[in-house]
Amino acid sequence: MTFSQALPKSLSPSRLQDFQACPRRYQYASVERLPQPASYAATKGRFVHHVFEKLLAADAAERTRDRALSLVPDAVTHVLDEGVRRDLNLDEASETALIDEATAIIDTYFTMEDPSHVVHEGVELRLAATIESTPLFGILDRLDRDEAGDLVIVDYKTGGLPNRDYDAKTFANTELYAALCEAKLGERPRRIRLMYVAKGETIERPVTEVVARARVASAASAWERIKLFYDEGAFPARPSRNTCRFCAYTETCRASGVPVPEV
Ligand code: SF4
Repeated sequence: MTFSQALPKSLSPSRLQDFQACPRRYQYASVERLPQPASYAATKGRFVHHVFEKLLAADAAERTRDRALSLVPDAVTHVLDEGVRRDLNLDEASETALIDEATAIIDTYFTMEDPSHVVHEGVELRLAATIESTPLFGILDRLDRDEAGDLVIVDYKTGGLPNRDYDAKTFANTELYAALCEAKLGERPRRIRLMYVAKGETIERPVTEVVARARVASAASAWERIKLFYDEGAFPARPSRNTCRFCAYTETCRASGVPVPEV
């Protein structure tokens, strides 16, 4: 098979995660660009991210809870578009429930930090750089400058907390962002802060040069395999109960002959 679509020009941390979970999923999402129906969890996440982006972009003194709540109608307009409403089958009651859940997350966020004290270098920061021949691209939720003058990557998580024995995977995406920051801004962030805003908990980890290099090496290796599979015209499927249960392409995949497990 030869793809009629061009290979994506760059690799983002989330697409890398797709590829590492299952190369076929990357093929569907990034090469063939098959539409993915909106999910309730992802929509709620986008909704909350939209509010935080606008809130943190405001002057420090204006980053109040009232201001955050005043941004909710804007999030409704921008996030709950026609396609999302159709995918989620949203009616008045389910829309109200979603807004209530998002508002509860916003309230929890205000128990975690006072945004008027946050000093940042940017929100929804778009970064692109070619490192080790690998074109990388990503959008950072927030890049803070802490009291010591160091850069801190801040990533909002609207889902549940990772297992207490969380492993390197929890930080893998953001560690690649650290390498992107270093290549683009000439300064490597010292720490990564994951804010589980639905749970009111934060986990942090320092960024070391060794880890940042390892993330780039892993992305470079994936990019080489992506180019190879693209040239070969097929990305292998790696069906497993754990991977497929979060995949939007189970029907397409089954139709192509892959034994996708029932979940
Ligand atoms: S359904 Fe499973 S095997 Fe198929 S693309 Fe998705 S994750 Fe991969």
